[in-house]
Parts: sequence; C-alpha cells; structure tokens
Amino acid sequence: MSITVEDTGFNTMDATTEWAAAVHFDGTGWDLISEPTTDRAAALDAVQSTTDSVLISREVTSWQTVPELRPPRLLASDDTVNGIIAEEDNVIRGALNRGATIVVTKTHKPAERVLHRIGCPSLTPLLDRSKAWTTWFRERLVEDHTIRPSMPDFHTRDDAEARLAGIRQCTTCEPELHGATRSIRSLRAGGLAERHLGLTLATEGGTPLGTITDIRSHTSAAKQQRWGAEHVTITTDAGPHEVAGTDRVHILGNVSETNLTTREAALRQRLGVA
Ligand SMILES: [Zn+2]
Repeated sequence: MSITVEDTGFNTMDATTEWAAAVHFDGTGWDLISEPTTDRAAALDAVQSTTDSVLISREVTSWQTVPELRPPRLLASDDTVNGIIAEEDNVIRGALNRGATIVVTKTHKPAERVLHRIGCPSLTPLLDRSKAWTTWFRERLVEDHTIRPSMPDFHTRDDAEARLAGIRQCTTCEPELHGATRSIRSLRAGGLAERHLGLTLATEGGTPLGTITDIRSHTSAAKQQRWGAEHVTITTDAGPHEVAGTDRVHILGNVSETNLTTREAALRQRLGVA
C-alpha cells in the first residue's frame, strides 16, 4: 500500500533550486527579504541591495509517492485456527478409520488432480494441518472467514480403482492403480547409495529380485579416485548379488515401502487412529 499524492515520478533530478536573499532572524529561522526565485542572479541582486543579508537556497521537488507505514497484518487467533484444524483432523481421522489409503490432491482443479498413497512424502504439508495453515492463510482468515488451505480427498484403494480412473498418479509414491506399475530406473551399480536401501532390486524387465538391505563397494586403492567402485555386493532379502561397478542395475519405485508405511504410521499415531 502507498499513498499517492501526485505521482510525477520519484526522480530527484526533478528537483529545482530556488534562491532568495535572507537575514538570520533571532536564531530560529531565516527571514526572507526577497521572494524566492529560480533566478539566482536576481536573488543575488537582492542580496547586494541590502546590508547584512545572505543568499540562501532550497531544493524544491515534485510530489512523490511515499511508502505508507503499514500496520502489522492481523493474524487469526490460535484458538480460531486450532478449532478449524481440529475439525480438519477429524475428517482425516474419519477417512483413516474407513480404511482410506489413497489421497487425491488438487481437488479444486479437476485436470490437475493427483493420486497418492497416504504415506507419500509430498503429502506432509497437506496432512499436517498445522503446517497447511501457513501465516498467509492465518492472515487471510481475518478478512475471509471461509478461506481454507486445500484439503485432499480420501478414498479406499477399491474405491479409487472403481471410480478414479484417468487421474494422474504421483511419480514419487506410485499408487499402482488402474494397471499402472512402478517405474524402473537403471543406474550404474557403482552409483548405488544409502538412499537406495529399502527399494526393490529388479531385472531389466522389472521382475523383483528382493528388497535391497545392504550395499557394499569393493575398490582397490590404486583405482579408487579415478574409477569408483570396481565391484559391488548388493544384498537383498532374497540373497546377495555380485556385480561390477560399471554394470547397470535396475530398481523399482522411488520411495521404499518402509518409508511409506512409516509415514502412514506417524500420521495415525498423531491423530490417535489405531
Ligand atoms: Zn505421492
């Protein structure tokens, strides 16, 4: 917000200088003895025609837009917001109790809707309503008591299979609805790292070979700096796989089942749902 008096620009080059003859008047200010003028020579004439006066000047600028001092925005009270959050938590609690495991986001824009598993990491800022109620929403609530951060829809897997075909599926949690299967990623075995633990090792065709439980690189000191791992032992719950560091390996999905179930369990615990 700003107050516009007369916006002829903010450029101080607009300033003009006015001149006048003046005498100092009892220490509190200048007593002009000629009319202020932009003509410096005329003002100087006035000075010279008097005794004891001096030439003074002032900058005269156009009107400018000045920033208005804005009062701090009002926030809705914690009591008000917490009351709404309690109702929203009840909606989520009810959905969990009905066996919902699939979440649809962006429900207000049908073309942008996305299907997720309830443990998807991307849902944290939506399902934790105290995070969804950002300062921006708390400010807006003061002026518009109907405003709410978006709330997803909840469905059982069967319901989602039956009714929600055609909605895009999240590429992070990959709900595997409507015949969709988990993505297969291919990478060099030497590029395997801790973040791949818990993901499913697979054949190039996508046949699961087990959940990765351990990754060990074996490298001779001479080659370590330049070539990375020469040999990698990938252990899955179905047994070990010995591969060269340069071999391609294949991994199913982006988020481990453990990660998804841990997040869902944390949500249930927070809302007190068994
Ligand atoms: Zn997701």
